[in-house]
Amino acid sequence: MEKKDKTIVCKDCGEEFVFTVGEQEFYEEKGFENEPTRCKECRDKRKSERNSRRPFNREDR
Ligand SMILES: [Zn+2]
Repeated sequence: MEKKDKTIVCKDCGEEFVFTVGEQEFYEEKGFENEPTRCKECRDKRKSERNSRRPFNREDR
């Protein structure tokens, strides 16, 4: 099946972002079954927020 770029609406900011073929292949390669629900900006934001949190290092499971 031929892959195509996909437009997804970000859960966080409501903006549309493109889930490119390259990214889809990357996800497939990694075995991720879920498509991203957030745009790259929001993902980066969340990541840096997590990293900038106090050094408590307690992850919810
Ligand atoms: Zn977003």
